[in-house]
Amino acid sequence: MARPVVAIVGRPNVGKSTIFNRLVGDRLAIVEDKPGVTRDRIYSVAEWNGKPFSVIDTGGIEIDGDDEILKSIRMQAELAIEEADVIVFMCDAKSGVTQSDEEVAQMLFRSGKPIVLAVNKVDNLQRNDDIYEFYSLGFGDPIAISGSHGTGIGDLLDAIVDILPDLTDDEYDEDVIRVALIGRPNVGKSSLVNAILGEERVIVSDIAGTTRDAIDTPFERDGQRYVLIDTAGMRKRGKVYETTEKYSVMRAMRAIERADVVLVVINGEEGIIDQDKHIAGYAYEAGKASLFVVNKWDAVEKDDKTMHQFEKKIRDHFLFMTYAPILFLSAKTKQRLHKLLPVVQHVAEQHSLRVQTHLLNDVVSDAVAINPPPTDKGRRLRINYATQVAVKPPTMVIFVNDPELMHFSYERYLENKIRSAFDFEGTPIRIFTRRKS
Ligand code: GDP
Ligand code: GDP
Repeated sequence: MARPVVAIVGRPNVGKSTIFNRLVGDRLAIVEDKPGVTRDRIYSVAEWNGKPFSVIDTGGIEIDGDDEILKSIRMQAELAIEEADVIVFMCDAKSGVTQSDEEVAQMLFRSGKPIVLAVNKVDNLQRNDDIYEFYSLGFGDPIAISGSHGTGIGDLLDAIVDILPDLTDDEYDEDVIRVALIGRPNVGKSSLVNAILGEERVIVSDIAGTTRDAIDTPFERDGQRYVLIDTAGMRKRGKVYETTEKYSVMRAMRAIERADVVLVVINGEEGIIDQDKHIAGYAYEAGKASLFVVNKWDAVEKDDKTMHQFEKKIRDHFLFMTYAPILFLSAKTKQRLHKLLPVVQHVAEQHSLRVQTHLLNDVVSDAVAINPPPTDKGRRLRINYATQVAVKPPTMVIFVNDPELMHFSYERYLENKIRSAFDFEGTPIRIFTRRKS
Protein backbone atom coordinates (compact mmCIF):
# COMPACT_ATOMS: atom_id res chain seq x y z
CA MET A 1 0.00 0.00 0.00
CA ALA A 2 1.46 3.36 -1.01
CA ARG A 3 1.93 5.89 1.74
CA PRO A 4 0.56 9.40 1.28
CA VAL A 5 3.12 12.21 1.17
CA VAL A 6 2.97 15.13 3.58
CA ALA A 7 5.05 18.23 2.83
CA ILE A 8 6.01 20.96 5.28
CA VAL A 9 6.09 24.40 3.70
CA GLY A 10 6.91 27.82 5.15
CA ARG A 11 9.36 30.69 5.40
CA PRO A 12 12.91 30.04 6.55
CA ASN A 13 13.30 29.92 10.33
CA VAL A 14 9.69 29.26 11.25
CA GLY A 15 10.83 25.88 12.58
CA LYS A 16 10.14 23.42 9.77
CA SER A 17 13.19 21.24 10.40
CA THR A 18 12.55 21.27 14.13
CA ILE A 19 8.99 20.05 13.63
CA PHE A 20 10.06 17.56 10.98
CA ASN A 21 12.37 15.99 13.53
CA ARG A 22 9.60 15.96 16.10
CA LEU A 23 7.24 14.24 13.69
CA VAL A 24 9.64 11.52 12.65
CA GLY A 25 12.09 11.57 15.56
CA ASP A 26 11.72 8.11 17.02
CA ARG A 27 11.46 6.54 13.68
CA LEU A 28 14.66 8.19 12.45
CA ALA A 29 16.55 6.76 15.38
CA ILE A 30 15.38 3.28 14.43
CA VAL A 31 16.13 3.25 10.72
CA GLU A 32 19.37 5.11 11.00
CA ASP A 33 20.72 2.45 13.23
CA LYS A 34 21.78 0.69 10.07
CA PRO A 35 25.24 1.60 8.90
CA GLY A 36 25.49 3.52 5.66
CA VAL A 37 22.08 5.14 5.70
CA THR A 38 22.68 8.83 5.35
CA ARG A 39 21.78 11.09 8.23
CA ASP A 40 21.07 14.53 6.84
CA ARG A 41 17.54 13.60 6.17
CA ILE A 42 14.89 15.71 4.49
CA TYR A 43 12.28 12.99 4.37
CA SER A 44 11.19 10.13 6.53
CA VAL A 45 8.33 7.88 7.37
CA ALA A 46 6.01 8.69 10.24
CA GLU A 47 3.01 6.96 11.70
CA TRP A 48 0.12 8.14 13.84
CA ASN A 49 -2.88 6.12 15.01
CA GLY A 50 -1.74 3.27 12.81
CA LYS A 51 -1.67 5.41 9.67
CA PRO A 52 1.74 5.58 8.03
CA PHE A 53 2.78 8.48 5.82
CA SER A 54 5.92 10.04 4.38
CA VAL A 55 7.01 13.49 5.44
CA ILE A 56 9.27 15.84 3.55
CA ASP A 57 10.73 19.11 4.71
CA THR A 58 10.70 21.25 1.60
CA GLY A 59 12.64 24.04 3.27
CA GLY A 60 15.94 25.33 2.12
CA ILE A 61 15.42 24.98 -1.57
CA GLU A 62 18.13 27.12 -3.02
CA ILE A 63 18.29 28.05 -6.62
CA ASP A 64 21.72 28.88 -7.98
CA GLY A 65 22.31 32.56 -8.41
CA ASP A 66 19.06 33.51 -6.80
CA ASP A 67 18.96 34.69 -3.25
CA GLU A 68 15.45 35.96 -3.26
CA ILE A 69 13.78 34.26 -0.35
CA LEU A 70 10.29 34.83 -1.54
CA LYS A 71 11.01 33.21 -4.85
CA SER A 72 12.29 30.06 -3.23
CA ILE A 73 9.35 29.82 -0.87
CA ARG A 74 7.05 30.14 -3.84
CA MET A 75 8.93 27.37 -5.55
CA GLN A 76 8.71 25.25 -2.45
CA ALA A 77 4.97 25.74 -2.29
CA GLU A 78 4.61 24.90 -5.97
CA LEU A 79 6.58 21.73 -5.47
CA ALA A 80 4.44 20.71 -2.51
CA ILE A 81 1.27 21.47 -4.40
CA GLU A 82 2.35 19.23 -7.23
CA GLU A 83 3.74 16.36 -5.26
CA ALA A 84 2.18 16.18 -1.81
CA ASP A 85 -1.13 14.77 -0.69
CA VAL A 86 -1.34 16.98 2.37
CA ILE A 87 0.50 20.25 2.98
CA VAL A 88 1.46 21.52 6.41
CA PHE A 89 1.75 25.28 6.08
CA MET A 90 3.92 26.48 8.92
CA CYS A 91 4.00 30.02 10.31
CA ASP A 92 5.68 31.65 13.27
CA ALA A 93 3.72 33.10 16.21
CA LYS A 94 6.65 35.33 17.14
CA SER A 95 6.64 37.20 13.86
CA GLY A 96 2.92 37.08 13.20
CA VAL A 97 1.44 36.96 9.70
CA THR A 98 3.95 38.31 7.20
CA GLN A 99 3.54 39.30 3.60
CA SER A 100 5.23 36.17 2.34
CA ASP A 101 2.92 34.06 4.50
CA GLU A 102 0.03 35.74 2.71
CA GLU A 103 1.56 35.09 -0.70
CA VAL A 104 2.09 31.44 0.04
CA ALA A 105 -1.42 31.20 1.48
CA GLN A 106 -2.81 32.51 -1.82
CA MET A 107 -0.99 29.86 -3.79
CA LEU A 108 -1.95 27.06 -1.45
CA PHE A 109 -5.52 28.23 -1.38
CA ARG A 110 -5.83 28.22 -5.15
CA SER A 111 -4.34 24.72 -5.34
CA GLY A 112 -7.31 23.13 -3.63
CA LYS A 113 -4.97 20.71 -1.83
CA PRO A 114 -5.74 19.81 1.78
CA ILE A 115 -3.85 22.21 4.03
CA VAL A 116 -3.08 22.09 7.73
CA LEU A 117 -2.09 25.45 9.16
CA ALA A 118 0.42 25.14 11.99
CA VAL A 119 1.63 28.09 14.01
CA ASN A 120 4.95 27.31 15.64
CA LYS A 121 6.82 28.89 18.54
CA VAL A 122 3.74 29.07 20.74
CA ASP A 123 6.00 28.45 23.70
CA ASN A 124 3.71 29.70 26.44
CA LEU A 125 0.10 30.50 27.21
CA GLN A 126 0.52 34.21 26.58
CA ARG A 127 1.54 33.52 23.06
CA ASN A 128 -1.58 31.43 22.59
CA ASP A 129 -3.40 34.69 21.90
CA ASP A 130 -1.02 35.40 19.06
CA ILE A 131 -2.49 32.65 16.94
CA TYR A 132 -5.81 34.40 16.31
CA GLU A 133 -4.46 36.62 13.59
CA PHE A 134 -3.62 33.48 11.60
CA TYR A 135 -7.32 32.88 11.00
CA SER A 136 -7.00 35.64 8.40
CA LEU A 137 -5.05 33.24 6.18
CA GLY A 138 -8.27 31.41 5.50
CA PHE A 139 -7.38 27.84 6.45
CA GLY A 140 -9.63 27.52 9.46
CA ASP A 141 -8.29 26.74 12.92
CA PRO A 142 -4.57 27.26 13.23
CA ILE A 143 -2.87 24.57 15.29
CA ALA A 144 -0.63 25.99 17.96
CA ILE A 145 2.63 24.11 18.36
CA SER A 146 6.02 24.53 19.90
CA GLY A 147 8.96 22.76 18.38
CA SER A 148 11.07 23.69 21.36
CA HIS A 149 8.71 22.20 23.94
CA GLY A 150 7.11 19.55 21.77
CA THR A 151 3.61 20.80 22.60
CA GLY A 152 0.77 20.57 20.11
CA ILE A 153 2.51 17.89 18.06
CA GLY A 154 -0.23 15.38 18.83
CA ASP A 155 -2.87 17.86 17.65
CA LEU A 156 -0.90 18.49 14.51
CA LEU A 157 -0.62 14.76 13.82
CA ASP A 158 -4.36 14.34 14.45
CA ALA A 159 -5.12 17.08 11.95
CA ILE A 160 -2.79 15.56 9.34
CA VAL A 161 -4.09 12.04 9.75
CA ASP A 162 -7.69 13.27 9.61
CA ILE A 163 -7.29 14.45 6.05
CA LEU A 164 -4.82 11.89 4.70
CA PRO A 165 -6.30 10.38 1.58
CA ASP A 166 -6.62 6.60 1.32
CA LEU A 167 -4.40 5.66 -1.57
CA THR A 168 -5.60 2.59 -3.32
CA ASP A 169 -3.07 0.45 -5.03
CA ASP A 170 -5.38 -2.00 -6.64
CA GLU A 171 -5.25 -0.31 -10.00
CA TYR A 172 -3.02 -3.12 -11.29
CA ASP A 173 -3.22 -6.87 -10.98
CA GLU A 174 -0.91 -8.72 -8.65
CA ASP A 175 1.03 -10.19 -11.55
CA VAL A 176 1.98 -6.82 -13.01
CA ILE A 177 5.46 -5.65 -12.02
CA ARG A 178 5.47 -1.96 -11.21
CA VAL A 179 8.81 -0.37 -12.02
CA ALA A 180 10.07 3.08 -11.04
CA LEU A 181 13.18 4.70 -12.48
CA ILE A 182 14.75 7.10 -10.08
CA GLY A 183 17.90 9.20 -10.10
CA ARG A 184 19.16 12.70 -10.48
CA PRO A 185 18.22 14.81 -13.48
CA ASN A 186 20.18 13.94 -16.62
CA VAL A 187 21.27 10.46 -15.65
CA GLY A 188 19.18 9.21 -18.55
CA LYS A 189 15.89 8.06 -17.03
CA SER A 190 13.73 9.25 -19.90
CA SER A 191 16.15 7.82 -22.42
CA LEU A 192 15.98 4.49 -20.64
CA VAL A 193 12.21 4.52 -20.66
CA ASN A 194 12.23 5.24 -24.38
CA ALA A 195 14.85 2.59 -25.00
CA ILE A 196 12.89 -0.03 -23.09
CA LEU A 197 9.64 0.81 -24.83
CA GLY A 198 11.30 1.37 -28.18
CA GLU A 199 12.06 -2.30 -28.42
CA GLU A 200 8.40 -2.98 -28.34
CA ARG A 201 6.71 -3.54 -31.65
CA VAL A 202 3.36 -2.67 -30.11
CA ILE A 203 2.35 0.91 -29.87
CA VAL A 204 2.29 1.83 -26.22
CA SER A 205 -0.35 4.19 -25.04
CA ASP A 206 -0.23 6.16 -21.84
CA ILE A 207 -3.10 5.55 -19.53
CA ALA A 208 -3.96 7.73 -16.63
CA GLY A 209 -3.41 6.04 -13.30
CA THR A 210 -6.33 6.12 -10.96
CA THR A 211 -4.33 7.34 -8.00
CA ARG A 212 -3.35 11.00 -8.16
CA ASP A 213 -2.57 12.36 -11.55
CA ALA A 214 0.40 10.17 -12.32
CA ILE A 215 0.66 8.75 -15.77
CA ASP A 216 1.89 5.20 -16.00
CA THR A 217 3.02 3.27 -19.02
CA PRO A 218 2.01 -0.38 -19.24
CA PHE A 219 3.71 -2.84 -21.56
CA GLU A 220 4.31 -6.53 -21.90
CA ARG A 221 7.49 -8.46 -22.57
CA ASP A 222 7.98 -12.22 -22.89
CA GLY A 223 4.61 -12.85 -21.32
CA GLN A 224 5.29 -10.65 -18.32
CA ARG A 225 3.30 -7.48 -17.81
CA TYR A 226 5.03 -4.36 -16.50
CA VAL A 227 4.06 -0.80 -15.69
CA LEU A 228 6.53 2.06 -15.74
CA ILE A 229 5.46 4.31 -12.92
CA ASP A 230 4.98 8.04 -13.43
CA THR A 231 6.86 8.26 -16.68
CA ALA A 232 4.88 11.21 -17.96
CA GLY A 233 6.09 13.30 -15.06
CA MET A 234 9.57 12.36 -16.12
CA ARG A 235 9.05 13.71 -19.59
CA LYS A 236 7.33 16.89 -18.47
CA ARG A 237 10.09 19.24 -17.54
CA GLY A 238 11.39 22.76 -17.64
CA LYS A 239 10.55 24.09 -14.21
CA VAL A 240 13.47 25.64 -12.37
CA TYR A 241 13.01 23.64 -9.22
CA GLU A 242 13.33 20.39 -11.08
CA THR A 243 17.06 20.70 -10.73
CA THR A 244 16.89 20.92 -6.96
CA GLU A 245 17.59 17.91 -4.85
CA LYS A 246 14.42 18.11 -2.81
CA TYR A 247 12.33 18.07 -5.92
CA SER A 248 14.07 14.94 -7.19
CA VAL A 249 13.70 13.26 -3.84
CA MET A 250 10.06 14.16 -3.59
CA ARG A 251 9.18 12.99 -7.06
CA ALA A 252 11.18 9.84 -6.44
CA MET A 253 9.38 9.16 -3.16
CA ARG A 254 6.04 9.21 -4.85
CA ALA A 255 7.16 6.88 -7.59
CA ILE A 256 8.94 4.54 -5.18
CA GLU A 257 5.88 4.21 -2.98
CA ARG A 258 3.87 2.92 -5.90
CA ALA A 259 6.56 0.59 -7.30
CA ASP A 260 7.57 -3.01 -6.70
CA VAL A 261 11.00 -2.64 -8.27
CA VAL A 262 13.10 0.51 -8.18
CA LEU A 263 15.82 1.13 -10.74
CA VAL A 264 18.37 3.42 -9.17
CA VAL A 265 19.86 5.05 -12.24
CA ILE A 266 23.41 6.35 -11.98
CA ASN A 267 25.36 8.25 -14.59
CA GLY A 268 28.40 6.13 -15.44
CA GLU A 269 30.25 9.22 -16.61
CA GLU A 270 30.05 10.77 -13.15
CA GLY A 271 30.67 9.56 -9.65
CA ILE A 272 28.11 8.88 -6.99
CA ILE A 273 26.91 11.80 -4.92
CA ASP A 274 24.87 12.18 -1.73
CA GLN A 275 21.72 12.80 -3.69
CA ASP A 276 21.97 9.32 -5.18
CA LYS A 277 22.26 8.00 -1.65
CA HIS A 278 19.22 9.91 -0.43
CA ILE A 279 17.05 8.53 -3.15
CA ALA A 280 18.34 4.96 -2.93
CA GLY A 281 18.01 5.16 0.86
CA TYR A 282 14.35 5.85 0.42
CA ALA A 283 13.88 2.77 -1.76
CA TYR A 284 15.56 0.73 0.95
CA GLU A 285 13.45 2.21 3.70
CA ALA A 286 10.26 1.74 1.73
CA GLY A 287 11.12 -1.95 1.46
CA LYS A 288 11.14 -2.11 -2.32
CA ALA A 289 13.18 -4.37 -4.55
CA SER A 290 15.98 -2.45 -6.23
CA LEU A 291 18.79 -2.66 -8.67
CA PHE A 292 21.47 -0.23 -9.74
CA VAL A 293 21.56 0.76 -13.38
CA VAL A 294 24.80 2.41 -14.40
CA ASN A 295 23.78 4.21 -17.58
CA LYS A 296 25.87 5.96 -20.28
CA TRP A 297 28.40 3.16 -20.11
CA ASP A 298 29.07 3.79 -23.81
CA ALA A 299 30.55 7.18 -22.94
CA VAL A 300 32.95 5.84 -20.35
CA GLU A 301 36.56 5.29 -21.27
CA LYS A 302 37.30 1.90 -19.90
CA ASP A 303 39.74 -0.92 -19.56
CA ASP A 304 39.25 -4.36 -18.07
CA LYS A 305 39.19 -2.98 -14.52
CA THR A 306 36.77 -0.08 -14.93
CA MET A 307 33.58 -2.00 -14.36
CA HIS A 308 34.94 -3.71 -11.29
CA GLN A 309 36.12 -0.38 -9.88
CA PHE A 310 32.75 1.23 -10.43
CA GLU A 311 31.07 -1.73 -8.82
CA LYS A 312 33.25 -1.36 -5.76
CA LYS A 313 32.42 2.34 -5.60
CA ILE A 314 28.72 1.53 -5.56
CA ARG A 315 29.16 -1.10 -2.87
CA ASP A 316 31.18 1.35 -0.73
CA HIS A 317 28.58 4.09 -1.06
CA PHE A 318 25.49 1.97 -0.60
CA LEU A 319 26.47 -0.28 2.29
CA PHE A 320 22.82 -0.75 3.17
CA MET A 321 21.96 -2.14 -0.26
CA THR A 322 24.46 -4.92 -0.86
CA TYR A 323 21.59 -7.09 -2.05
CA ALA A 324 20.92 -4.97 -5.14
CA PRO A 325 22.35 -6.23 -8.44
CA ILE A 326 24.33 -3.79 -10.59
CA LEU A 327 23.83 -3.49 -14.34
CA PHE A 328 26.04 -1.51 -16.70
CA LEU A 329 24.32 -0.43 -19.86
CA SER A 330 23.64 2.31 -22.34
CA ALA A 331 20.23 3.71 -23.19
CA LYS A 332 21.82 5.36 -26.20
CA THR A 333 23.51 2.39 -27.89
CA LYS A 334 21.21 -0.16 -26.22
CA GLN A 335 24.28 -2.07 -25.11
CA ARG A 336 23.21 -4.76 -22.58
CA LEU A 337 19.73 -3.27 -22.44
CA HIS A 338 18.24 -6.72 -23.10
CA LYS A 339 19.54 -7.84 -19.69
CA LEU A 340 17.50 -5.29 -17.80
CA LEU A 341 13.99 -6.73 -17.77
CA PRO A 342 15.04 -10.29 -16.91
CA VAL A 343 16.83 -8.90 -13.84
CA VAL A 344 13.79 -6.78 -12.97
CA GLN A 345 11.65 -9.89 -13.21
CA HIS A 346 14.06 -11.87 -11.05
CA VAL A 347 14.24 -9.32 -8.23
CA ALA A 348 10.45 -8.91 -8.33
CA GLU A 349 10.14 -12.67 -7.77
CA GLN A 350 12.58 -12.53 -4.88
CA HIS A 351 10.68 -9.58 -3.42
CA SER A 352 7.53 -11.68 -3.17
CA LEU A 353 9.27 -14.94 -2.28
CA ARG A 354 7.83 -16.85 0.65
CA VAL A 355 9.91 -19.55 2.33
CA GLN A 356 8.36 -22.33 4.30
CA THR A 357 8.74 -22.18 8.04
CA HIS A 358 10.51 -25.53 8.38
CA LEU A 359 13.07 -24.60 5.72
CA LEU A 360 13.70 -21.26 7.35
CA ASN A 361 14.16 -22.93 10.71
CA ASP A 362 16.61 -25.45 9.29
CA VAL A 363 18.73 -22.57 8.05
CA VAL A 364 18.49 -20.65 11.31
CA SER A 365 19.36 -23.67 13.46
CA ASP A 366 22.31 -24.51 11.23
CA ALA A 367 23.51 -20.93 11.51
CA VAL A 368 23.22 -21.04 15.30
CA ALA A 369 25.04 -24.38 15.45
CA ILE A 370 27.97 -23.08 13.42
CA ASN A 371 28.18 -19.77 15.22
CA PRO A 372 26.25 -19.56 18.51
CA PRO A 373 25.11 -16.13 19.68
CA PRO A 374 27.69 -14.45 21.92
CA THR A 375 26.81 -14.00 25.58
CA ASP A 376 25.87 -10.59 26.90
CA LYS A 377 26.61 -10.00 30.60
CA GLY A 378 26.50 -13.71 31.15
CA ARG A 379 23.23 -14.21 29.30
CA ARG A 380 22.89 -15.89 25.97
CA LEU A 381 20.32 -15.32 23.23
CA ARG A 382 18.19 -18.40 22.65
CA ILE A 383 16.29 -18.68 19.41
CA ASN A 384 13.07 -20.67 19.54
CA TYR A 385 11.93 -20.42 16.00
CA ALA A 386 11.67 -18.20 12.96
CA THR A 387 8.85 -17.67 10.54
CA GLN A 388 8.22 -15.49 7.51
CA VAL A 389 5.18 -13.31 8.14
CA ALA A 390 5.03 -11.16 5.00
CA VAL A 391 6.32 -10.57 1.48
CA LYS A 392 7.17 -7.37 -0.44
CA PRO A 393 9.56 -7.17 1.31
CA PRO A 394 10.13 -10.59 2.87
CA THR A 395 9.63 -10.11 6.59
CA MET A 396 10.76 -12.61 9.20
CA VAL A 397 9.93 -12.80 12.86
CA ILE A 398 12.42 -14.56 15.11
CA PHE A 399 11.10 -15.62 18.50
CA VAL A 400 13.75 -15.54 21.23
CA ASN A 401 14.12 -15.63 25.00
CA ASP A 402 14.94 -11.89 25.16
CA PRO A 403 14.96 -9.51 22.17
CA GLU A 404 17.46 -7.25 23.95
CA LEU A 405 20.08 -9.94 23.47
CA MET A 406 19.77 -9.87 19.68
CA HIS A 407 22.60 -7.65 18.51
CA PHE A 408 22.77 -5.97 15.16
CA SER A 409 25.82 -7.95 14.09
CA TYR A 410 24.19 -11.26 14.92
CA GLU A 411 21.02 -10.28 13.12
CA ARG A 412 23.15 -9.37 10.14
CA TYR A 413 24.84 -12.78 10.36
CA LEU A 414 21.46 -14.52 10.32
CA GLU A 415 20.29 -12.38 7.43
CA ASN A 416 23.37 -13.36 5.44
CA LYS A 417 22.75 -17.04 6.14
CA ILE A 418 19.13 -16.68 5.09
CA ARG A 419 20.18 -14.91 1.94
CA SER A 420 22.74 -17.50 0.98
CA ALA A 421 20.16 -20.25 1.46
CA PHE A 422 17.22 -18.65 -0.36
CA ASP A 423 18.72 -15.96 -2.64
CA PHE A 424 16.47 -12.92 -2.01
CA GLU A 425 18.59 -11.04 -4.53
CA GLY A 426 17.52 -7.44 -5.02
CA THR A 427 15.19 -7.24 -2.05
CA PRO A 428 15.65 -5.93 1.45
CA ILE A 429 14.69 -8.36 4.20
CA ARG A 430 13.06 -7.20 7.41
CA ILE A 431 13.83 -9.14 10.56
CA PHE A 432 11.91 -8.56 13.77
CA THR A 433 12.84 -10.16 17.03
CA ARG A 434 10.04 -10.95 19.44
CA ARG A 435 9.93 -12.46 22.89
CA LYS A 436 8.49 -15.94 22.84
CA SER A 437 5.37 -15.71 24.88
P1 GDP B 1 13.28 26.18 9.31
O1 GDP B 1 14.23 27.10 8.63
O2 GDP B 1 11.87 26.56 9.06
O3 GDP B 1 13.54 24.73 9.04
O4 GDP B 1 13.48 26.43 10.90
P2 GDP B 1 14.36 25.62 11.97
O5 GDP B 1 13.69 24.36 12.37
O6 GDP B 1 15.76 25.55 11.48
O7 GDP B 1 14.24 26.61 13.20
C1 GDP B 1 14.64 27.97 13.11
C2 GDP B 1 14.94 28.50 14.49
O8 GDP B 1 13.75 28.55 15.28
C3 GDP B 1 15.91 27.64 15.27
O9 GDP B 1 16.78 28.50 15.96
C4 GDP B 1 15.02 26.86 16.21
O10 GDP B 1 15.70 26.52 17.40
C5 GDP B 1 13.94 27.86 16.49
N1 GDP B 1 12.68 27.20 16.88
C6 GDP B 1 12.10 26.11 16.32
N2 GDP B 1 10.95 25.80 16.94
C7 GDP B 1 10.79 26.71 17.94
C8 GDP B 1 9.79 26.95 18.94
O11 GDP B 1 8.81 26.20 19.06
N3 GDP B 1 9.96 28.01 19.76
C9 GDP B 1 11.04 28.85 19.66
N4 GDP B 1 11.12 29.84 20.51
N5 GDP B 1 11.99 28.65 18.74
C10 GDP B 1 11.88 27.62 17.89
P1 GDP C 1 16.78 12.24 -17.27
O1 GDP C 1 16.81 13.67 -16.86
O2 GDP C 1 17.36 11.36 -16.20
O3 GDP C 1 15.47 11.75 -17.76
O4 GDP C 1 17.85 12.11 -18.49
P2 GDP C 1 17.61 12.11 -20.08
O5 GDP C 1 17.06 10.80 -20.51
O6 GDP C 1 16.89 13.33 -20.47
O7 GDP C 1 19.12 12.18 -20.58
C1 GDP C 1 19.97 13.25 -20.28
C2 GDP C 1 21.03 13.36 -21.33
O8 GDP C 1 21.87 12.21 -21.31
C3 GDP C 1 20.47 13.46 -22.74
O9 GDP C 1 21.25 14.40 -23.45
C4 GDP C 1 20.65 12.06 -23.30
O10 GDP C 1 20.82 12.06 -24.69
C5 GDP C 1 21.91 11.60 -22.60
N1 GDP C 1 21.96 10.14 -22.45
C6 GDP C 1 20.97 9.37 -21.93
N2 GDP C 1 21.35 8.07 -21.93
C7 GDP C 1 22.59 8.01 -22.47
C8 GDP C 1 23.53 6.95 -22.72
O11 GDP C 1 23.30 5.77 -22.47
N3 GDP C 1 24.73 7.31 -23.26
C9 GDP C 1 25.03 8.61 -23.55
N4 GDP C 1 26.24 8.85 -24.08
N5 GDP C 1 24.19 9.63 -23.33
C10 GDP C 1 22.98 9.34 -22.79
